Amino acid sequence: MTGAGRAQRRANRQTTAAAIVLRRRDFRESSRIVTCLTREYGKVSGLAKGAYRPDSPMLGRIDFLNELEATFSPDRGGLRILTRAKLTRERRALRRSRRYLAAGHVAWLVDVASQEGRPEPELFDLLTGGLNLLERCPIQTIPQVVLGLELRHLAALGALPDLEHCAECGAEFRAGCFRQGDTMGLACRQHAGLPRNPVPARALNLLQQLNRSAGRDWPKLDPKGAIAQTAPLPARWLAAALEQRAPYRSLIFPSRGRSTSASAARTNP
Ligand SMILES: [Zn+2]
Repeated sequence: MTGAGRAQRRANRQTTAAAIVLRRRDFRESSRIVTCLTREYGKVSGLAKGAYRPDSPMLGRIDFLNELEATFSPDRGGLRILTRAKLTRERRALRRSRRYLAAGHVAWLVDVASQEGRPEPELFDLLTGGLNLLERCPIQTIPQVVLGLELRHLAALGALPDLEHCAECGAEFRAGCFRQGDTMGLACRQHAGLPRNPVPARALNLLQQLNRSAGRDWPKLDPKGAIAQTAPLPARWLAAALEQRAPYRSLIFPSRGRSTSASAARTNP
């Protein structure tokens, strides 16, 4: 078959896939445009016609973070139609406010980093795994779980600095670790550049532990009060990698007793 023939066949096919609802927006009076993340097809958006009507089979299914078996009309270049949505998982535990904020933040990270029609199974798995953790972890461990997910997200984007070795000489961080402002990397004392921006030892230790551990073990770690010191580092790396500030982040991490606005400025450089 010719390339054009294959493209034609693809354009005539419906797409059915496991999908997580990332976003919805209103379309005319009674419809919604739903954006989902799928493992096989990346982000897919479709029009859910009449989803607001009381007799719509979509009602209560296309809510944020619900998991669906979703069928979209063939891709002909314009907006696709979400023709069918079977609810496969409703994450009720995430409706509680602190879990909801954290889940919203992780969904935002994945949304910003993914593109329509470009499969990124790693991001899909990160989101489903992250939501599983955020549903079950003890509520006081949410900040460390979010930090762990941010490190995995940065690694998936290829934007996680080496947390064990100096970016310049490869030496292990024994006599201190410093931020390199221009490269976003971490350096030893000798290669830190002036003025030096030290990374607190407890913060580096927590980042290393999170990075080395499996996600299921993150809630068991003891951050020893280092969350507030640690949180600004992934914030910088994420802002550089995504070229955007995460809107919910400052609500998840504690502020070390300063005013709310100072905390927001610090955790979202
Ligand atoms: Zn060095």
